[in-house]
Amino acid sequence: MRSLITGGAGFIGSHLAEALVARGEQVIVLDDLSTGRYDNVAPLLERGDVEFALGSILNADLVDDLVRRADRVFHLAAAVGVQLIVEQPLESLATNLRGSENVLEKAHKYDTPTLVTSTSEIYGKNTSDVLGEDDDRILGSPLKTRWSYSEAKAIEEVLAHTYWRQKGLRTVVTRLFNTVGPRQTGHYGMVIPRFVNQALRDEPLTVYGDGTQTRCFTHVADVVRALVDLAEHPDAPGTVFNVGSQDETSIAALAEQVIELSDSNSTVRYVPYDEAYEEGFEDMARRVPDTTRLEKLTGFAPTIDLDGIIRSVVADQRS
Ligand code: UDP
Repeated sequence: MRSLITGGAGFIGSHLAEALVARGEQVIVLDDLSTGRYDNVAPLLERGDVEFALGSILNADLVDDLVRRADRVFHLAAAVGVQLIVEQPLESLATNLRGSENVLEKAHKYDTPTLVTSTSEIYGKNTSDVLGEDDDRILGSPLKTRWSYSEAKAIEEVLAHTYWRQKGLRTVVTRLFNTVGPRQTGHYGMVIPRFVNQALRDEPLTVYGDGTQTRCFTHVADVVRALVDLAEHPDAPGTVFNVGSQDETSIAALAEQVIELSDSNSTVRYVPYDEAYEEGFEDMARRVPDTTRLEKLTGFAPTIDLDGIIRSVVADQRS
């Protein structure tokens, strides 16, 4: 079995590559190293189990060659994180739209099953108690750059799903909710690596807004297990799956927990949204996934709680 992982040198992609190699499988990593890091996969490359292709998913010839040689595709490459998208909106749109179209087109050409990673961002402003896969998106204005990530990933989902419906390509769409773990960088806004970084320097932890907004965090090892199980399940194609935990925590409580678990002398600084993000930024008050569909099909249950998640990031940043 040989898997192509687009974005395989990134945070989640490199953990996925490791998991597949641990099962004795072969992996081709495609990454342009824009946000991914060579170091994330260097130990795997030394062992010869993984082939590394430096390049973009926008390069149709390269994607063609790699998909042709793969038995399945995990499409993870994307411009991720609202902060990055706000800073580089055109480049992000190109990657997430045209790049994904390239990958799906080649997957169709070679009839290669493909798992696509989407995001809880596509639910937009829907803050229902729990978000089910069939729930509606509640859309922000397309004129606000902040929502362009949500728009692009939703179109990617539509493309993947349409290749299934119209052409019979075996595509699985996954929506990831706040995945966290070692190697994740805080450069593009992700809150836990940022808080841990601040805590380890005894700097104030910057809580945006009043800190009452909540999120459910899932360790990358649990997410990777779900992705592999879904890629292998014969009933998964043609379906969308939320992937995440339902363990909800406020960002203010998270900050306190990070300070405690990293033995830090940091304080908490509340930063008004206008200072933290572009003007008019709308944060989501909560985002809780309904994961019944994933649980029923694969038996999924997260194994690492928030304490364990924070500890793993602290250990990673200390090393
Ligand atoms: N956040 C924060 N301080 C930071 C970075 C993020 O308070 O330094 C908040 C952010 O406003 C959001 C939550 O933490 O309410 C999660 O942000 P992240 O970017 O990690 O994920 P997302 O908003 O995409 O769920």
